[in-house]
Amino acid sequence: AQERYASIRDLPAVSMCGQRVHLMMNAGLMADLPSLAGSGAEGVGLFRTELQFLIRNQMPKRSELSALYARVIDAAEGRKVVFRTLDIGSDKVLSYMKPNDEPNPALGWRAIRVGLDKPGVMRMQLQALVRAANGRPLTVMFPFVAQYEEYRAASAEMDKALERERILGHPLPEKVELGAMLETPSLAFAPTKFFEEVEFLSIGGNDLKQFFFAADRENERVRRRYDTLNVSFLTFLQGIVDRCASTGTQLSFCGEDAGRPVEAICLAAMGLRTLSMRPASIGPVKSLLMRTDLGALRSVIDKARDEGRQSVREPVMEFLRTQG
Ligand code: PEP
Ligand code: MG
Repeated sequence: AQERYASIRDLPAVSMCGQRVHLMMNAGLMADLPSLAGSGAEGVGLFRTELQFLIRNQMPKRSELSALYARVIDAAEGRKVVFRTLDIGSDKVLSYMKPNDEPNPALGWRAIRVGLDKPGVMRMQLQALVRAANGRPLTVMFPFVAQYEEYRAASAEMDKALERERILGHPLPEKVELGAMLETPSLAFAPTKFFEEVEFLSIGGNDLKQFFFAADRENERVRRRYDTLNVSFLTFLQGIVDRCASTGTQLSFCGEDAGRPVEAICLAAMGLRTLSMRPASIGPVKSLLMRTDLGALRSVIDKARDEGRQSVREPVMEFLRTQG
């Protein structure tokens, strides 16, 4: 399938109306790295570090992690790699950690909550990342941040890791960019100071949508019940885009919807300028984007909203058909 899109692989993703959109890839395993060149991705917008923990039967050592992360940064050849700190708990359970018996794991002790309550592993991971950067730029994001205070505490951990490395005489990254995933509706309403403090936000649409509609992403009965192109959800995303624009906060979207061409162009029409997706989706998304007038698409979306529709999907599909 990637051959089909080979002719546009090295072209920048620009919509028909001239809007540049950055297409990045999601990764997590070493096997993903060759896709960096093969897909035309502009970098890794989401590196799911927990996958390295999930494929082992014991806790990886700091030196192993640091070597792995260094290989990822090497493979990116100067392109950005956004490392997400461990996102375990809920659907991602480590065999070598005591399981938690929780009535609602998706709403439970997971991701940054574990990282802050039991900081040993997060500290080890941050140190491994700083060492892997070895003087190069480093970008780290924290998963499942629900309130400003959690981000501040996690960011303080990064400061401590940098200070430890400095004392040890190790080279520090040329610069460190820190951000958070926006996957809980609460974070969209965080104080403006939070939006000013983070260097970037990345919308984790899979989780954000599950919590927005209160529909378990793992539950076959309900997971497809609510459309991403639902007017309520798009209006919510619009609010996030507007807040980030007013504070100058970089914003991206890295949930699965970013890799679905129709959803992706609608996200771009709502103002998202960076999308991160499975490598195989980059060609199809770029191809449709290049044929789309985002301004015209936005008018279709706004009109459908004004008409009181539940989802904009039907008028959007109709627009795409007439656009050819
Ligand atoms: C998300 O929630 O959209 C996301 C990108 O993270 P994950 O799918 O790993 O939970
Ligand atoms: Mg998530």
